[in-house]
Amino acid sequence: MLLKIIFDTAAFLAGLEKYFDKVYTVQSVIDEVKDQRSKEIFELSLAAQKIIVLQPSSNSLNEVLSLIKKLSEYTLSKTDIEIVALALDFKRESIVYTDDLSLQNVLKHLGINYESVKLRGKLKVPITQFVYECVNCHTIYFNYVPYCSKCGGRVIKKVFKH
Ligand SMILES: [Zn+2]
Repeated sequence: MLLKIIFDTAAFLAGLEKYFDKVYTVQSVIDEVKDQRSKEIFELSLAAQKIIVLQPSSNSLNEVLSLIKKLSEYTLSKTDIEIVALALDFKRESIVYTDDLSLQNVLKHLGINYESVKLRGKLKVPITQFVYECVNCHTIYFNYVPYCSKCGGRVIKKVFKH
């Protein structure tokens, strides 16, 4: 089973998306990150659909709202609630990257996996990553493709500086 990766704002601010093929999040996280981080790489990832923005279902939102009342976790923001609801929409087959202790507590009660952003950031991981760029129209691909799907041009490997 491949777990879906869900990011909260802290995970994007730590730049962790470069370690995953695909990450999921909600619109309010994107809005918060856009205010605080250099736009270039982030928007490239959005455009390449490396970051997928989804709206959680109202069923899941209601389930989370009633749970936080039960747990008295009133510090959860609207963004946090949407993150948990999105994890529920994935039938719990997801892992949420967050450092927020209240958010982690709610996830624990729902049987959803989570991991701390700070811990993950400390792991030894390569600082450079490769992308593939069309020599003709300069479209960026995160996974190898023999030819550009937009113009058919040759694709070369490039170091993607973070
Ligand atoms: Zn091209």
